[in-house]
Amino acid sequence: MEPLVNNRPQLKSPKDLFVYHGVSQVDLKKYQRMLAAGNTKGAMNAFLKKYVRKNMAEFQTIAQGYLVQAELGEMQPKHVNQMGRNLAIYSTRIQNTVNNNYEIFLKKAVGPSTFEKRALTNAKIKRIALNDTLNEFKRLTNGAMSNTTQNVLTQTRKMQRQMVVRNNVIKSPNFTGNAQMEIGRFKDTLRKTNPDYYQAMEDGNIFKSRSFGKGQEKVINYKLDEYTDMSARTTLMNVDRTTSEVISKVNGDNVVEFYELDSRDVETERDICQDILSVDTEGRSLLALDDSTADALGILTLDQAREQFSMSPNCRHSIKPVSETFQNRINKLIGVAV
Ligand SMILES: [Zn+2]
Repeated sequence: MEPLVNNRPQLKSPKDLFVYHGVSQVDLKKYQRMLAAGNTKGAMNAFLKKYVRKNMAEFQTIAQGYLVQAELGEMQPKHVNQMGRNLAIYSTRIQNTVNNNYEIFLKKAVGPSTFEKRALTNAKIKRIALNDTLNEFKRLTNGAMSNTTQNVLTQTRKMQRQMVVRNNVIKSPNFTGNAQMEIGRFKDTLRKTNPDYYQAMEDGNIFKSRSFGKGQEKVINYKLDEYTDMSARTTLMNVDRTTSEVISKVNGDNVVEFYELDSRDVETERDICQDILSVDTEGRSLLALDDSTADALGILTLDQAREQFSMSPNCRHSIKPVSETFQNRINKLIGVAV
């Protein structure tokens, strides 16, 4: 009776798999037209589907395939190592592709469109807003990719160790049981002791992330393409936020308006955002740009809101400058309150 082995795993080489999906000029023009027509969500959806999620989903399929191979049986160490190398090469290529696509969409489509809406001409402000946004997206993607590769390899090695141990028992001359039954029992045990592995292999949730809420250590398993989609949306919305903040400060305002930018249904709203929305100041939800305004109006500052993870990944709220008339009303109100 053969023990549980997989001597010829099918580990397709990333060289044979990788196809560069870069943003085409035709599509870029299309996104620019959509943005100019005010269809930000449509442009974002179309771009993300074709140039971000598709790449990520391909990587995910490969990683899932490797997990399947490693679950079939004990592999030779050289094959496990090959898996690690393949994943590293493949993830780097996908990551660079996605980052490049994002940069094109940001700097040639969403960025200029956002600046135009704000009638922003200051080149320095534009540059800061764009670079902050790009760096944040890269940080999130690169983290997710290296975490995923690591996660797949760690889990594979753990599973392989369990297989080696069990195969040694089955191969031992002292083993008198039924090998077939033993293997069946062993597979059941693997499923019970490696729930994350099976979830990743079967459902595609190969990326483990800590939740972003209030310092909780909750770990969430994501599909990589969904996570990247979320990171891209959130950071693209930050162009608007950063620009709003900079403009408000240049105007000498002491508040910004807090509002919902993307009205897609969200499973769990962040408490902090609900708290901000629940305070009504002259008919609006506001955040202060300095401490004394925050104290006078009984509202949070923008920094405090960010510290409590408002406007962090998965949040669909944003900020915009208030009108001069509204700012004057706030000034009067603060005058009364002080
Ligand atoms: Zn929110």
